[in-house]
Amino acid sequence: EAKKTQRGLQLFNHEINESFQRKVVLEYELRKALEKKQLSVYFQPQLNIQSGAVLGMEALVRWQHEQLGFISPGEFIPIAEENGLICQIGEWVLREVSHHISLWQTEGLQVPSIAINISPREFINVGFVNTIQSIIKETAMNASNFVFEITESIGIDQLDGVIKKLNALKEIGIQVAIDDFGKGYSSLNYLKHLPIDILKIDKSFIDGINDDVNDYVIARAMIQVAHGMGMKVIAEGVETASQIEKLKQLECDIMQGFLISKPLPADLAASFLRNNDRM
Ligand code: C2E
Ligand code: CA
Ligand code: CA
Ligand code: CA
Repeated sequence: EAKKTQRGLQLFNHEINESFQRKVVLEYELRKALEKKQLSVYFQPQLNIQSGAVLGMEALVRWQHEQLGFISPGEFIPIAEENGLICQIGEWVLREVSHHISLWQTEGLQVPSIAINISPREFINVGFVNTIQSIIKETAMNASNFVFEITESIGIDQLDGVIKKLNALKEIGIQVAIDDFGKGYSSLNYLKHLPIDILKIDKSFIDGINDDVNDYVIARAMIQVAHGMGMKVIAEGVETASQIEKLKQLECDIMQGFLISKPLPADLAASFLRNNDRM
């Protein structure tokens, strides 16, 4: 144990601006953070565009390191994906979210569905569906509390396997959303083959929806295609009122973004739900 601490200190004493060194440090520290429960989950509300009702919240992992400060998931999730730690992080997130759902329900709150990000490496794991099933059972959750967000990078080369797994999740009662839609490749092929309930339009299209005619036309087409296939559409990264106006015109269903709320720690997320209840 003393040796371990020694090593940790040595790492801190170094300049860690070099990206490789930083990566090594983060990898080491992330393992520790997971063991010591130094991660947390924030929740970002998702609202019905027409009525403003809270239809869901996306769970987003947060890591506040004692010395290094806030480390963005955009930085550490790819590292965890690379070394496999993402599987443990994913399980932890599901348990943590379940814990909060239970607490909120005990308080009498109307808890909407909670969206959880699933990395390709987690999804591809042979035991993935079983693991999910046992956590849901163990935490006495209703599977319909959850939406799993997957991305296009989940593996087009093994389409049959992906479809089987998604169907297994849906049989349990979990809904499936396709995240960051339009950012990757094979998008339409995915929609055609995968049993998806919700399409999330990538922020990059929402950013330009008022000023860039291409973004506007693409967003409009994505909404039409999704609706035609019986899916709901979420616009992510909504930051301005004029974006909401455009999305209303296009009959987009759900919005999520800083304009409505940043991701909130659990207590503030509960307050958000409480206030929304009274509306
Ligand atoms: P994502 O799944 O696309 O999540 C949306 C990201 O956009 C979040 O960043 C959120 O805070 C941010 N965001 C939401 N609304 C706005 C907005 O209006 N403007 C701007 N500029 N940003 C907005 P975050 O929390 O830093 O997460 C980054 C990525 O890390 C996520 O992208 C997701 O891919 C990954 N991630 C986060 N939490 C988890 C997790 O628990 N598991 C896995 N596997 N990945 C996660
Ligand atoms: Ca997401
Ligand atoms: Ca996204
Ligand atoms: Ca995104």
